[in-house]
Amino acid sequence: MAKLPLSLEFFPPKTPEGVARLATARHELYALKPEFCSVTYGAGGSTQAGTLQAVQAILAEGVDAAPHFSCIGATQASIRERLAEFRAAGVRRLVALRGDLPSGYGGGSSEFRYASELVAFIRAESGREFHIEVAAYPEMHPQARSPQADLAAFAAKVEAGADSAITQMFFNSDAYFRFVDDAHALGVDIPVVPGIMPITNSSGIIRFAEGCGAELPRWIRLRLQAFGDDTASIRAFGLDVITDLCDQLRNAGVPGLHFYTMNHSGPTLEICRRLSL
Ligand code: FAD
Repeated sequence: MAKLPLSLEFFPPKTPEGVARLATARHELYALKPEFCSVTYGAGGSTQAGTLQAVQAILAEGVDAAPHFSCIGATQASIRERLAEFRAAGVRRLVALRGDLPSGYGGGSSEFRYASELVAFIRAESGREFHIEVAAYPEMHPQARSPQADLAAFAAKVEAGADSAITQMFFNSDAYFRFVDDAHALGVDIPVVPGIMPITNSSGIIRFAEGCGAELPRWIRLRLQAFGDDTASIRAFGLDVITDLCDQLRNAGVPGLHFYTMNHSGPTLEICRRLSL
């Protein structure tokens, strides 16, 4: 069986201990031979400097690395500066995003309103220099007017020059398959790689899924809640559920898997071990 391409997502640590812990997790995860690692930006107040530092560390370890890069509140001049920084650091792949709107944001004055505008600007500024990843939402972005409007927004990002996409986490593969079919019907044929969130706790995953508009099926939620404080059972159940999901996706021929590692190696390594990846 051909090897399934894997990619791994990290967030920039805020403390020296976090930096050391991430370095350890990363080295353990390199056993999976990831195609690339991506580093988030902005979420939880992280800065682009933190993102770039983590990306540089990964590149120095000989692994391809992609900074996430959001445009909300940015200007053309500031984006141009970031692109120059990325170029100087040897970055060749970006995850181009709108980013989450700050509370109270009116939207009127920003030079960029949507990720499609960022993708178009990066292409206009730098041609084919960067491989551009964008976000996809099998269960619809929470602020979209309708699933059709969100699909059209996704198609617009591809039209603007995106090379491939990573999905929001999901726990229901039907939503992913339907999204990919619908995108194909619109003539969109870039790889759409499922974003996989390992389940390692109960309240965190319930909150997190709700926040990003991903449905945690009732049977999963009820079982997680019934485990109470029994973290060993939660982890064991979570590994079973997510391994099954990945297995289904692999059997259906997905172009790769992107793991939201949360800077931990254990769950991702165990899922991949069970799948012989
Ligand atoms: P867009 O594609 O611009 O879509 C945003 C909304 O606008 C959608 O509802 C869409 O339907 C709508 N829309 C788009 N174009 C139009 C149009 N022309 N007219 C009307 N409506 C339109 N957030 C972070 O802060 N940091 C990160 O590092 C980060 N990494 C992520 C990685 C992945 C793989 C994913 C899936 C999400 C990530 N996010 C991150 C979250 C992301 O920033 C939010 O979901 C954000 O709200 C939307 O970003 P986007 O790039 O998908 O936006």
